[in-house]
Amino acid sequence: MFGSVVVGVGRAGGVRIRDMLTPLPGSGAEKLTVRGFISRRNLNTHQDVNQISAEDALKGEDIHAAFICTENESHEDLVRMFLEAGKHVCVEYPMTLSYKAAAELWDLAQKKGVILHEEHIELLTEDYKQLKKEVDGKVLLEGSLHFTGGTLKPGFGFPAFSGIARLCWLVDLFGELSVTAATFEQDAGKGYSKMTAQLLTSNSRPLTWVEERQDGLLRTKKVNFVFDDFAVTQIPSAPKGTVGLFMQDLIHFSAKLSGQVSPEELDRERVRILHCLELADRIQQLCKS
Ligand code: NAD
Repeated sequence: MFGSVVVGVGRAGGVRIRDMLTPLPGSGAEKLTVRGFISRRNLNTHQDVNQISAEDALKGEDIHAAFICTENESHEDLVRMFLEAGKHVCVEYPMTLSYKAAAELWDLAQKKGVILHEEHIELLTEDYKQLKKEVDGKVLLEGSLHFTGGTLKPGFGFPAFSGIARLCWLVDLFGELSVTAATFEQDAGKGYSKMTAQLLTSNSRPLTWVEERQDGLLRTKKVNFVFDDFAVTQIPSAPKGTVGLFMQDLIHFSAKLSGQVSPEELDRERVRILHCLELADRIQQLCKS
């Protein structure tokens, strides 16, 4: 069994606790048990799980793993703190708000001999799996992904990082990308922001990624991927899976802790995550320059 602590009990943290209390029967999630949670608020208990101090979690011999479920800007320090203490870490995306910090954390995890896992539930949805099947093996000519949504609370970072799930889709679908240009417009008074990044695939096919937010904007993703013989103009709508997305991620994390994921697969994931964060960093630099 892997004793765990959940840091931050907002939406994601609450689901992490629920999933460990009611793991999918017969799955690897049963190997994780929640021993407590850490919050800045004085909550005492949450879903009948006890609040504990960070100090107790760090030195607790029965705590082997930490789930970092706070706002993005605090991920880096919290991940480092638990890795330093020799604990495995599952962090909700994005791991950090800079590429350099993520690369350092990965080195630290390797030095400590522990697992560092970044959750990517966007890759686990049935809609996405269907989309991936549709574009698999096709040669992209050009494409775009335009995300809209409501304004984020403070602490979630620049849109290239807070929207890393969209970038991760593009990299998972079309392979390594480079950034050719990026712009950022903002009207703080209206709570409006729009980031536009121009990307290129390794065979120089253009992809445009837009993150647009304003209070009240509907959460949508519009895609237009053009191939030589057809185009995908909307995300497929597949029936929902029976296993929740965070539960699937929990099972994957547990498999890593149990040594059931090959070093090659671990490395592929590490390379993809660092590549996305490096692109996000570059987009942010271009937007600010
Ligand atoms: P949220 O605002 O609902 O929750 C964040 C919680 O963390 C808050 O309760 C806050 O008080 C707490 N917190 C902040 N700093 C803390 C600290 N130092 N110690 C203890 N608690 C602290 O946000 P959320 O939607 O749950 O998102 C959390 C993370 O999960 C983000 O990184 C987000 O990108 C990721 N994520 C969320 C979802 C989702 O569906 N909500 C999906 C994928 C990824």
